[in-house]
Amino acid sequence: MLGISLPSQFEYRNGVLHVEGVSALKIARECGTPVYVYSTTAIAERFAGLEAGLSEVDHLICYALKANSNQSILKLLNGLGAGFDAVSGGEYARAIAAGAPGQKIVFSGVGKTESEMRSALEGGIRQFNVESEPELLLLNGLAASMDAKAPVAIRINPDIDAETHQKISTGMAENKFGVPIRRARHIYSRAAELPNIDIVGIDVHIGSQLQNLEPFRKAFSLIAELAAELRADGHAIKRIDLGGGLGIAYNSREETPICPEDYCEAIIETVGHLGCEIEIEPGRYIVGDAGILLSNVLYLKDGADRRFLVVDAAMNDLMRPAIYDAYHEIIPVSEPGPDQSPLSVDVVGPVCESSDTFAKQRLLPAIGAGDTVAFLSAGSYGSSMASEYNTRALVPEVLVNGEKYAVIRKRPTIKEIIDRDIVPAWL
Ligand SMILES: *Cc1c(COP(=O)(O)O)cnc(C)c1O
Repeated sequence: MLGISLPSQFEYRNGVLHVEGVSALKIARECGTPVYVYSTTAIAERFAGLEAGLSEVDHLICYALKANSNQSILKLLNGLGAGFDAVSGGEYARAIAAGAPGQKIVFSGVGKTESEMRSALEGGIRQFNVESEPELLLLNGLAASMDAKAPVAIRINPDIDAETHQKISTGMAENKFGVPIRRARHIYSRAAELPNIDIVGIDVHIGSQLQNLEPFRKAFSLIAELAAELRADGHAIKRIDLGGGLGIAYNSREETPICPEDYCEAIIETVGHLGCEIEIEPGRYIVGDAGILLSNVLYLKDGADRRFLVVDAAMNDLMRPAIYDAYHEIIPVSEPGPDQSPLSVDVVGPVCESSDTFAKQRLLPAIGAGDTVAFLSAGSYGSSMASEYNTRALVPEVLVNGEKYAVIRKRPTIKEIIDRDIVPAWL
């Protein structure tokens, strides 16, 4: 159908899209739309693939919570042996709540607050990926006041173009992230003088949704050289954290994602000889293709010179198209017949913004009001970025496992949303 290849665990059976053994139509009817649906098996498969690729080196896969931080998904990954990469105190607390030991949580981010650092030091932490000298000093002072030692890797900005969308590129000199690589030796020597800092390694993360291996190779090679220099300076570099960023194919007809085996091989080739424990922080790769967003078509509307497919999902539910011009495949949940001629439509949501557009002049099989569509590859940066803009209830989530499914986040009622506001007595 239109040459789209479906991700693993999603297929048409008897003319209806299924997630593992469960009909997407049944979920849409029973849970209402819009709704996110994830496949347990797809998540486990992706995780297992990376585990296998890195099996010959000491490693920990620290799942980046921000891609999708639902407790059920964290619990699933924790059960598979994952570590976690948190970028806020909230994410740290989510990982702990899902049963992760502090020793398997790394804390990244350019703006950690003192109270966030304190809760991580109290609850246990594998390492802080420190992004600046002022942060290092604050952490040292805090750890001293708690009579603790803070394990630290310094995040290095290698000034490498990840060749991805500018809003998710993080490893260039112009980006706010990390410490410039030419200042690395200086900051490590500062860190070594601080009594409550324990240097454990080096960290790098150059961006997200990478489609080429070359920027990874360049960055990892620079980090390997730096590790040798820092060791020569007398620092104990036990761990190398290579960040996340492994991309997926949103547009299966035009994009060829990096093969995960090649990615793992590049890691082993560039940093394997150091004898360090290797950490990676994949988010999107593990959950992106494992999730879809189901939405019902409200109207097929003829504009002056365009046709609009108005659906009940909107930019508040899936923000990526509005903020990154991101592409998501959109397919009907009922399999279209082979002789159906496609229509060119703009797929839009009900929110009062022109940026609430999921696709422009997209060729889709004839779909009309009442039909259900699925946005593919919506498992990452979908629900975790969702908001209640336009007082649209936060989109619910469903997890499928074989023949069964469970609601893993329910849709709040409008009353619950309104009741969160507090009206002062003087009004
Ligand atoms: C966002 C982020 C990740 C995850 O990126 P993906 O592209 O989802 O793999 C990993 N590490 C850090 C520091 C991040 O900010």
